[in-house]
Amino acid sequence: MDLPLILRRTPRFVVYGAGQVAARRVPSLLNSGCQVTVVAQQAHADIQQLAERGDVEWQQRQVSPSSEQFDGDCWYVLALDDASLNAILAKQARACGAWVCRADSPDDSDFYFPAVIDRSPVLVTVSSHGTSPALTRYLRQRLDTFLPAEIADLGNFVARWRQRVRQTLPLSQRKSFWRQWMRSVAPERVLARQHDAAESLTLEMLDGKQVQAGEVYLVGAGPGDPDLLTFRALRLIQSADIVFYDRLVGNPILDLLPRDAERYYVGKARSDHAVPQERINQLLVEHSQQGKRVLRLKGGDPFIFGRGGEELETLADAQVPFQVVPGITAAAGCAAYAGIPLTHRDHAQSVRFVTGHLKNGSCDLPWHELAHPDQTLVIYMGLAGLPQICQQLIDHGMSPYTPIGLVENGTRPDQQVHVSTLAQMPAYIHRREIQPPTLTIVGSVVSLSERLNWR
Ligand code: SAH
Repeated sequence: MDLPLILRRTPRFVVYGAGQVAARRVPSLLNSGCQVTVVAQQAHADIQQLAERGDVEWQQRQVSPSSEQFDGDCWYVLALDDASLNAILAKQARACGAWVCRADSPDDSDFYFPAVIDRSPVLVTVSSHGTSPALTRYLRQRLDTFLPAEIADLGNFVARWRQRVRQTLPLSQRKSFWRQWMRSVAPERVLARQHDAAESLTLEMLDGKQVQAGEVYLVGAGPGDPDLLTFRALRLIQSADIVFYDRLVGNPILDLLPRDAERYYVGKARSDHAVPQERINQLLVEHSQQGKRVLRLKGGDPFIFGRGGEELETLADAQVPFQVVPGITAAAGCAAYAGIPLTHRDHAQSVRFVTGHLKNGSCDLPWHELAHPDQTLVIYMGLAGLPQICQQLIDHGMSPYTPIGLVENGTRPDQQVHVSTLAQMPAYIHRREIQPPTLTIVGSVVSLSERLNWR
């Protein structure tokens, strides 16, 4: 069984060979503060440069086993092209009590280097027992994407407070303090760069106060495909105690919630009775004040036709801390997944997002501004009013042949893209069973969909 260790005292390294492997290894040894000697007749340009700068000692010579001197206090990395030569040197170095890593043979190595994610002071190392560098690199990459970019801030924050905690609390209480701290909302405040709030929370906890500090995360869940979530959205979804979600947030995203998170649906029910907005605002405040991490999950982006602003105003009035995480709005998601670039130098120089929601059966929009040849028009919530929208655009001067696209269930497995013209779309949808959510895109960019639709 291997023994993973992190060395705090840096040994002296001697690297035999100065090719690709050495060129990768030597800089990381130098970064860790090691002294490095390289022995090789020829060296990779990077190593030559390090030697010229005086960062490494390069003994430029032919390696000959009969005259090599080994030092039991040094660690040896054998990275020569010649495996039998590496084997002989390994034997000789060990005979002097030195430790050896053979780049070409994990089995004949006393130590090897793990893959490292260095977000100092946080260090994550990955290894696959020396068997597969490719697997190790793959795992490192996967882990890297899951570590918040601000994890180093968290490390520094904890390091700063460690001393203070040590002075304030007896040994017996420190462990449980930190466990409680890690489970509290304080780390998330650090990650959200709300450092002052994190400081005062930590101080209160250190004073032994029962901290009932909840918060609200207003998170955009994107248009449906869970792969379109941001890293931050995923992290906050996974840390929620309770979630209030809308109709447009589908099961693949809800599946990412912790199993024990309370879930409340606050969108329109089948009976079409939505939880009134004021009640939702109130629920967010009440639950966060009970010390919970409240996730408010919305389809698309919370600030685009999402009433996110209204919910935040209530939170701000009640002095509830919150974060907002942008999501991919339906326009961006549907356009990308339907192969319709929203702007294009040959077609549209601007794009406009409007809501086609009907009020008292009619759709009240500034039509003369919308009927514009070089502009793409994206209409949210416009299915019911579509015949009216098409007619108004034609009446206000748009060509009846203007392409119009309807993206049904955009970015989801059952996405459908319907393309027609302003004149014919009303009849087209009349003949088909089209299900919401749908997004309407008007403008000549829609004609590109036929060629660019990649789904
Ligand atoms: N905040 C959301 C929009 C909410 S309004 C966002 O930024 O996307 C709801 C409207 O968004 C729907 O009526 C529909 O027009 C559009 N929409 C949301 N998700 C969609 C999807 N997956 N496919 C098509 N349209 C979608």
